[in-house]
Amino acid sequence: MGEEVGLTQRVAIVGSGPSGFYAVQALFKADPDVRCDLLERLPTPYGLVRGGVAPDHQKIKSVVRAYEKTATEERFRWFGNVELGRDVTIDELLERYDRVVLAVGAQSASRLGIPGENLRGSYTATEFVAWYNAHPDYQDRTFPLDADDAVVVGVGNVAMDVARILAAPRSHLAPTDITDTALASLDRDRRVRVHVLGRRGPAQAAFTPKEIQEISAIEGIDVRTVKKEVKLDPLSEAWLDAEGTRANRDNVDFVQSRTGMRLRTARAEMWLRFCVSPVALLGDDRVEAVKVEHNRIVERDGRLSCEGTGVFEEIPAGIVLAAVGYRSVPIPGVPFDVRRGLIPNEAGQVVDGDVPVEDLFVVGWAKRGPSGLIGTNRLDSTATVTTMMRTPVMNPAQGPDPEAWLRERVPQLVTWAEWEQLDAHETQRGTEKGKVRDKFASVTEMLAHLKDQR
Ligand code: NAP
Repeated sequence: MGEEVGLTQRVAIVGSGPSGFYAVQALFKADPDVRCDLLERLPTPYGLVRGGVAPDHQKIKSVVRAYEKTATEERFRWFGNVELGRDVTIDELLERYDRVVLAVGAQSASRLGIPGENLRGSYTATEFVAWYNAHPDYQDRTFPLDADDAVVVGVGNVAMDVARILAAPRSHLAPTDITDTALASLDRDRRVRVHVLGRRGPAQAAFTPKEIQEISAIEGIDVRTVKKEVKLDPLSEAWLDAEGTRANRDNVDFVQSRTGMRLRTARAEMWLRFCVSPVALLGDDRVEAVKVEHNRIVERDGRLSCEGTGVFEEIPAGIVLAAVGYRSVPIPGVPFDVRRGLIPNEAGQVVDGDVPVEDLFVVGWAKRGPSGLIGTNRLDSTATVTTMMRTPVMNPAQGPDPEAWLRERVPQLVTWAEWEQLDAHETQRGTEKGKVRDKFASVTEMLAHLKDQR
């Protein structure tokens, strides 16, 4: 332990998304003497709440009020603009802190692994989401949003987010904190068709009923389904009766209710397709269509899966977004399970093979994979903190308070008070433009703004 009197533990948490903040909250609850430094790669906190949650889901974003409260604690510090692997190493952190908790999330996306995936016009939903949400790493991207037909692969909530953003009218998006660039690019006067592809049937859809019902309630969007694709096969019917949740049933009821007449006044059609797997993206230098194979539902290893029927179809597409899950990226010096795309751990303690890595823990998507809603991370982080409390510190922190060392490494370290300045500026700019917030989309601009304020 360093020089602070009366402190039992000095903990660094890397990543200030929901799982990082929930780890801080759980640590404060479990140990009144712990001190937490929350380190963040960007000059802005909140991870996917800022860069992932859709701009028209401001209610979900209000979860940050609880994180702001945590930030008022005296034993809390937040240091932004410091990147693990670039500015500091894991060994350096473990030397200066009693323990390190990795809350780094899943920064990359799963790919389809099919021919044509690298054609122009094909992207992961992750890139598109980060772009319209002002993530500084993605602002150089351009997307062919003038296409008449868009294909979204996957039927999870990320697929629902991107399909909704593609189909929504300007009036729906304009008051949100979507970037001006994205808003302008999405503003078309032509009718658009968004085809959302599920490889299994409606009973296995991963979206939540609330998400799909929300889309159908947006004026100008006609959510439609194909009658023969939403009729349940015998296996799904039996599964729904035996194991289906209320959400599964509601999803099936909803999609079965959308097979009727076309809404001629709709500016956007969203076609929810089921039992179709993309097998290739077609086009010469840019994507023009998605070739899909129709599937049937089969039982495999006790789970309802799908297999191809040998019947193919081509769906026109000027843009394709793969929304088939996120993946964590390896951190130098930290074990990584390539197959599962996460940091291997035993109840939150990082393991190398079977051997626990001393004083190193993990929470959130980097721990369990990319699943669950924001609130899921609260229980998950608490579980890791329970493990921490049961595990003695093996290599106590060496040396003085690490702040001076961090400042030496990152001269433009950003503090919580400085983030509050950025926050206030974004909100003020937003008010002037009639939107909830006008985000900074460049780290250089954020740092320049802070410099001007000094
Ligand atoms: P997800 O819920 O796991 O959905 C992934 C989808 O991709 C599934 O439909 C999956 O189908 C499909 N898929 C996977 N590999 C595929 C392939 N090779 N070909 C075709 N389809 C494939 O993941 P997510 O949408 O990325 O969401 C991650 C988590 O964040 C979820 O827990 C989600 O609920 C949450 N989230 C919540 C909100 C919200 O509450 N508004 C918004 C966004 C995200 P199979 O089921 O057949 O594997």
